[in-house]
Amino acid sequence: MNQPSEKSLKRMRTYVQKYWEKTGTSPHPDKEVTEAVVMGLAANIDEVGRPLCPCNFYPDKKAELERSREWVCACDEMKQWKYCHCLLFVAPDGSPITEHLPEDHEGRQIYGLVKDPTPDKGREARFKVEGESDE
Ligand code: SF4
Repeated sequence: MNQPSEKSLKRMRTYVQKYWEKTGTSPHPDKEVTEAVVMGLAANIDEVGRPLCPCNFYPDKKAELERSREWVCACDEMKQWKYCHCLLFVAPDGSPITEHLPEDHEGRQIYGLVKDPTPDKGREARFKVEGESDE
């Protein structure tokens, strides 16, 4: 991975800080985990103009963005279920929150049930999965 530009790094650091606050999630206790994800997101801004999730493989990143915004951070899984498989937005002990995931989602199978410590925050797209109105 190329070293991302300072401009994109700054943009991502600001975004991530605000999104922790907005969603009531925490940084991973190992700072290197956070740093690696932020670097990957910033590198994708430089490469394709959007912070595409760095923890997935895309055969063609531009084609992925044309297909969908699903994996632009914060991704649909985060907005709907508060689940971040990159471990960028997590519970205080560093576990990804799995409480809101469907039971057959791989996150539940890998990590078991991890409760959401701040269920009143985040999940701005929960209406998409729960049929709630966003009005
Ligand atoms: S899993 Fe989602 S919220 Fe987490 S870093 Fe990737 S795009 Fe962002």
